[in-house]
Amino acid sequence: MDFSLTPQQEMLRDTVRRFFQTEVAPIARVCDDEERFPKEMIRQWGDLGLIGIRYPEEDGGSGFDKLGECLAREEMSRVSQAFASTWSVQAHMGLWPIWRSGTAEQKARYFAPGLKGELVSCFGLSEPEGGSNIRAMRTRATKVPGGYRISGSKMYITNAPIADFMLLAARTRPELTPEAVSMFIVDLPNPGVVIHKLAKEGIRASETGLIHIDEAFVPDEALLGGQEGTYPIILESLSENRVGVAANCVGMAQGALDAAIAYARDREVGGKRIGQYQAIAHKLADMAAQIEAARWLVYYGAWRIEQNTLDAATAAKVKLTASECALHVTEQAIRIHGGAGIMRDHAVGRFHRDAFVYVIGEGTSEIQRNIIARSLSL
Ligand SMILES: Cc1cc2nc3c(=O)[nH]c(=O)nc-3n(C[C@H](O)[C@H](O)[C@H](O)COP(=O)(O)OP(=O)(O)OC[C@H]3O[C@@H](n4cnc5c(N)ncnc54)[C@H](O)[C@@H]3O)c2cc1C
Repeated sequence: MDFSLTPQQEMLRDTVRRFFQTEVAPIARVCDDEERFPKEMIRQWGDLGLIGIRYPEEDGGSGFDKLGECLAREEMSRVSQAFASTWSVQAHMGLWPIWRSGTAEQKARYFAPGLKGELVSCFGLSEPEGGSNIRAMRTRATKVPGGYRISGSKMYITNAPIADFMLLAARTRPELTPEAVSMFIVDLPNPGVVIHKLAKEGIRASETGLIHIDEAFVPDEALLGGQEGTYPIILESLSENRVGVAANCVGMAQGALDAAIAYARDREVGGKRIGQYQAIAHKLADMAAQIEAARWLVYYGAWRIEQNTLDAATAAKVKLTASECALHVTEQAIRIHGGAGIMRDHAVGRFHRDAFVYVIGEGTSEIQRNIIARSLSL
């Protein structure tokens, strides 16, 4: 087993660290307060090759493997999970399925400009009636001459208020099977689509929408890959992305630990730096150990993806462990800050609010446990 990083992976990590420290850190708080994402930054990511980190060079990407992507995600989330979430949808959820199974025309029209940050994507899967039960999806696409008419609604869709197109899941057959659901690429704005921006408690700088779709027409060319029943591609995409968002969780936890260590070194109470109190030092030691364990599990998940052996239960274990670690560590960071942890001047409160999103989004912890339990032949 070789645990070392390649010089290229280290260079990528340093590039993302530098960009997020210099460009994102100074605005992370104000964007969180104002609940807005600076859309022009997506173009900057495109120019730096950051959206295409994981895609092959021959397809316009930067040619890194999944571990490279995870290292980049950690550095993003160490500064702002809201920015990292925007990146995650742009780089993976909205583009990967098009790269994986889109037609040549769809790749030229959406994937290539998406990698450059010229078009912003969003991914519409969850619905108001229940994001955890995708099989019961109600959004329906009906075949009409020249295309499809789509009606339904989508809930909590990241990037929707700033998106130029949406990769949308809709039922094309009545059965409750994955193959009854198809994927469409919907240009935005569309006269049949209305997007309401939602106010949030976590990842507030990322823009999130509730989407109503009323008899929206899309042409035949909008059907992903030119064929119905492509939802199984999304299941593959979700499993792979669970390892990616687990890397985000490690990054959030690390950001909170960094802040807590700095605070513990600085803050003096009762004539001592608080880091010299064993109660605080042990808390920090546990946080460091838990992050280390989650990080190596994430890297193992990335390695399994590269071996083409990632199964749903492993992806669920990785996501469950890292997201619960981030939630716990960010809470400990607030405790170490005392009253300061509740103040917005300190980032640990934001890290904790953001960590909460990830025991829910991309499949709740309960759903991850269901997936793991199914693999135990109970
Ligand atoms: C900030 C944010 C951004 C998001 N971005 C996107 C996006 O870009 N695209 C997208 O498609 N979705 C997105 N989501 C949706 C997200 O994936 C869903 O919120 C998530 O899957 C949970 O669905 P739900 O909110 O409807 O919860 P529900 O399904 O209503 O679940 C409620 C509770 O019941 C539990 N529960 C449900 N079913 C079971 C079961 N079978 N066994 C045990 N417990 C169960 C859940 O674990 C949870 O605790 C986002 C969500 C958030 C919060």
